[in-house]
This record gives sequence, structure tokens and C-alpha cells, in this order.
Amino acid sequence: MFDYLIVGAGFAGSVLAERLATRSNKKVLIVDKRSHIAGNAFDHYNEDGILVHKYGPHIFHTNSKEVFEYLSNFTEWRPYEHRVLASVDGQLVPMPINLDTINKLYGLSLNSFEVEQFFESQAEDVSVIRTSEDVVVSKVGRQLYEKFFKNYTRKQWGLDPSELDKSVTSRVPTRTNRDDRYFTDTYQAMPLHGYTRMFERLLDHPNIKVMLNTDYHDIIDFIPFKEMIFTGPVDEYFDFRYGKLPYRSLEFKHETLNVEQHLAAPVVNFPNDNLYTRITEFKALTGQKHPKTALVYEYPKAEGDPYYPVPRLENAELYNQYKKLADETPNVHFVGRLATYKYYNMDQVVAQALTLYKKLTEKEESLKPKKPIIVGSTSIMDKLVPRDPAKE
Ligand code: FAD
Ligand code: UDP
Repeated sequence: MFDYLIVGAGFAGSVLAERLATRSNKKVLIVDKRSHIAGNAFDHYNEDGILVHKYGPHIFHTNSKEVFEYLSNFTEWRPYEHRVLASVDGQLVPMPINLDTINKLYGLSLNSFEVEQFFESQAEDVSVIRTSEDVVVSKVGRQLYEKFFKNYTRKQWGLDPSELDKSVTSRVPTRTNRDDRYFTDTYQAMPLHGYTRMFERLLDHPNIKVMLNTDYHDIIDFIPFKEMIFTGPVDEYFDFRYGKLPYRSLEFKHETLNVEQHLAAPVVNFPNDNLYTRITEFKALTGQKHPKTALVYEYPKAEGDPYYPVPRLENAELYNQYKKLADETPNVHFVGRLATYKYYNMDQVVAQALTLYKKLTEKEESLKPKKPIIVGSTSIMDKLVPRDPAKE
């Protein structure tokens, strides 16, 4: 009998398996239908011996000390600050848009103060910022929006930015200084020996059994367990009762070139050209030295493995129907990017899993019979035993 059946060996499932096994001494079975652990963060050495991320570039960044310290129990780190260039009007310019982006794009030599005025002169008045279009045009105006955001977003999501929640393009800031880092989080690093190695260490405990190539439907009737943690798509769990929740998919085209370095930056974005959104050069992320180089191209598509929940009102409403069902399902806990339909980064999924773990332990504590209060060498319970006059 397992205490927990965990569906999905990505961040959500593996963090919970680790906590439950090591901290609460629970017996855990974790299953994944894929042939590997680590979910979408899975990395491996390709046939040329270059470490690549099978499901696209994964860059770790967080402001959470708790999350960073927690993962540090399972990996050493390589400090890494991510940088991206965008291919626009035949030039490669820093993305997020910053002072250098504007100067290079328009052949100017503005300073920070002047570029701020430039943005103000371009910005459109938007009374309520609701959509991903509103976010950008209200900050930098329509021209930059069209050069950097409009077509990239249409390609990535199959939707116009005006049809997407503001949270999507809000992920990318605008800067008036020369900071060209993609993220500004306190902790920015890559697992020194890769993500998969970190997951191997997370799951390395005698209380944890891992079953790969296994859809949970195929074992659920044969393996006894008390509670389930589900990290797959929530609509699938409920047999699409209210209809399909849209998830955006991608096709990854991996390529190895016989040169040491190919790109001018770790990632180059292509908002307006090509069918792919971006190219990543893995060695720039991992720091690996190798005479060849490995790249991945991302081609967005509607069908296929679910990678991104699609943030927009009608989808949030549909998800809320599933969430209500999920909340009413006893002994099944839904966590992670697919199961809670949230466009979460890795650190947010780890935080969500740690929070669920705390909730599960608090629930268990509250169900435990209260221990009698000890007074001196005897307990209050002893004192409450009815007296037996025959013995007195
Ligand atoms: P997943 O990793 O998706 O794990 C869920 C697992 O459940 C999967 O392995 C799946 O096979 C399994 N499963 C589903 N259904 C079943 C079933 N029926 N039976 C058995 N198993 C099942 N985050 C960052 O912080 N930084 C980045 O740079 C970054 N880049 C990204 C790039 C791309 C292209 C993508 C798609 C995501 C990126 N992310 C990034 C987000 C990151 O991948 C997620 O936040 C994280 O991996 C989610 O973990 P999870 O455990 O919720 O889900
Ligand atoms: N985006 C864009 N142009 C870019 C980079 C991002 O329009 O050059 C928009 C796009 O809608 C994208 C979103 O901003 O989906 C979030 O970008 P991020 O790089 O965070 O996407 P992820 O790494 O999650 O795919």
C-alpha cells in the first residue's frame, strides 16, 4: 500500500515526492508516462555529448530564498544571467527593450532621461490595461509594439496580443538603462550538472518508487494507495467534462553544428521572420566546452503535448469550473503548471508544491488524536481513570 500515488515526475510531482518521503516518512509511487523524470525540465547529453534541454531552454531564476535554498540541497549551481537578442529590421538588438535597443534600432545616442521621454512621446493612453497589447502600447507605443511583440505573440500563441491577458507580455519589462539581462531576480543560476541530475537526487530515497513509461490510468486499479497528487492537465483528469482547456504546444527542432559557437547571444528571438519564435544555443546556458554546438528552434502549434496554459478570460472561466470539481474531489490534490492551469515558471511550481506539502502535513497533524498532557510522571488521563474502591 502506497501512501501517495503521484502522477507526473516534473517539478511539482518530484518536490512533493521528496518532501513526503523524507520529512513525513510516506511511501510514494511516482509515475510518468514519459520515458524520463524531470518533466519539461528534462535535459540529456545528445549524440555528440552536448547537454541539451529536450523541451526548450530552461533558465532558473527566482526571488524566493526558500525555493533557492530548498533546491540547493540537490544541486550545486553555475551562476548564469540570461541575455536575449531580437532580430528586428535586419539588426540584432537587446530584448527586453532598453536604452541600447532604441539607440541601435534608430541610430540615436539618447541617454536614459531622453529615452524615457521618447517612450512617453510614443506611449498611447490606455485607460484600463487589460490585454497584452495594452501593456506594451501604453508603455512604448505602437511602433515598438509592432516590431517586437505583435508578431512574436501571434506566432507563439496563435492569438493577437489584444486577445491575451496582460500577464503574458508583462513578463517582459521595458528599461531606460543599459541592463540587458532577461531577468533581474535575486537568484539566477543553472544546476551545475543539469536538471535531470538534480531530479535524480530529489527522487533518490528508499520510500520513493519511480515508474516511467506509465500512464496512471493503466495502474490505478491495481496499485493500492491512499491519496493522489495529480500534475497532468486538469481537464484530462476529468475526461474533458466541460470541454477542452486550450494549452499551447511547441515542436522542438534540435540541431548540432560543426562550429564552436553559432549565435551572438544565448537566445535570439525572431518576432517577424521565420516560423519559429526563437533559437537557443545550449552551451551558452550550461557553460559546457565542446568543439561543436547544439541549438533548438521552437515552432509553436495548437496540437501536441500541452506546454503553455493560454491566459485569457474565457479560459480562466473554463478552468474555474474544473477547479471547482478538483476542490470537491476527495484525496486528490492538483498541483503544477498543467493541473492548476497557471503560466508558472519552475520556481513558482516549486513554491506551489512546498505550500501543498505544508497543507498536507497540517491536515494530517489536525487529524491525529491529541496526546494526553503529561503532569509530573503521570498523565492527566491516568488521573481521570475511575477509581476502583476495591483496590483502595
Ligand atoms: P511538467 O514538467 O509538465 O510535469 C508534468 C508531468 O506529468 C509530465 O512529465 C507528464 O509526462 C506527466 N503526465 C501528464 N499526464 C500524465 C498521465 N496521464 N500519466 C502519467 N504521467 C502524466 N520555467 C522557468 O522557470 N524558466 C525557463 O526558462 C522556462 N522555460 C520554459 C521553456 C519552455 C519551452 C516551456 C514549455 C516551459 C518553460 N518553463 C520555464 C516552465 C517550466 O517548464 C515549468 O514551470 C515546469 O516544468 C512545470 O513543472 P510541472 O511539474 O508543473 O509540469
Ligand atoms: N514576447 C514577445 N516578443 C519577444 C519576447 C516575448 O512578444 O521577443 C511576448 C510573447 O507573447 C511571449 C511573452 O512575451 O509569449 C512572454 O515571453 P517569455 O520570454 O517569458 O516566454 P517563455 O520563455 O515563457 O516562452
